Amino acid sequence: MQEDRFAGRVLVVEDCPTNQLLISLLLERLGLEVTLAGDGKEAVDIALSQAFDLIFMDMQMPNMNGYDATKALRKNSLTIPIVALTAYAMKGDREKCIFAGCDDYLAKPIKREKLIQIIRKYLPSKSEPEFEAGRLSRFFSGEKSTGEPKYESANVQGREAIISWSVIMEACGTEDMVEEIVGMFLKDAPRCMELAGEAVESKNLKDLKLYAHRLKGSAGYVGAVQLSEVCRRLECAADEKDIEAAALLFSDVKEAFEKVMSFLSRDNWIELAKQQGNSKQAERAAIK
Ligand code: MN
Repeated sequence: MQEDRFAGRVLVVEDCPTNQLLISLLLERLGLEVTLAGDGKEAVDIALSQAFDLIFMDMQMPNMNGYDATKALRKNSLTIPIVALTAYAMKGDREKCIFAGCDDYLAKPIKREKLIQIIRKYLPSKSEPEFEAGRLSRFFSGEKSTGEPKYESANVQGREAIISWSVIMEACGTEDMVEEIVGMFLKDAPRCMELAGEAVESKNLKDLKLYAHRLKGSAGYVGAVQLSEVCRRLECAADEKDIEAAALLFSDVKEAFEKVMSFLSRDNWIELAKQQGNSKQAERAAIK
């Protein structure tokens, strides 16, 4: 495997702490300089006052979402590439991103390899001469994405496991990164669940959609494929303003969440997840 090292200043706009941590660690390990913004408003302020070479923009955020932030940046003549981070839960999300002014999109949960593919398109590698941070517009060819914008739902291979080792490794790349991301999940997810529960109680579908979305993303990163999938359904029900379906789905989410939490709080969960992954592989090999 070749070593991927890039140069440039990247602004990451993302409201979920787990996602923030994962993407910034991945980018820093690729040699990039990372600045974080927690919502669209902050992103607009920072992006218009400092020089960046690339922006990763989450689309669903409180205060100002990614669509409005991107539109505002384009209106202010900012031309650097903006890559939408989107979970494609809703139909037409991708078109909306491009319409808002994004150049490309990256499906969540983010996978290291896909992230590198995108960066390779927009940023020079460290070995390229004449690099000048913050002045990369000239490297940007204006080429539109030729990538494979398929609907990316939970990985089918790992569907049976509570935590799919292959999915979590695909996102994190290394085991120490896995531990860091899971640590963040254990801190952030319970609060997110609590808020989602309150939103169900008070029939606040707007909040419910936001928390279901956030939980779906975090669950995806830690390889909790079932949890992520039920959160996706909950998010859709909330989006469609179906309070009855949402209440039912919330109890599924709760059940899946408790399984994930008890699995992840075991001291040897990494070993268990690896073992489950291996036995699934062996089963598949036996069938072939
Ligand atoms: Mn978000």
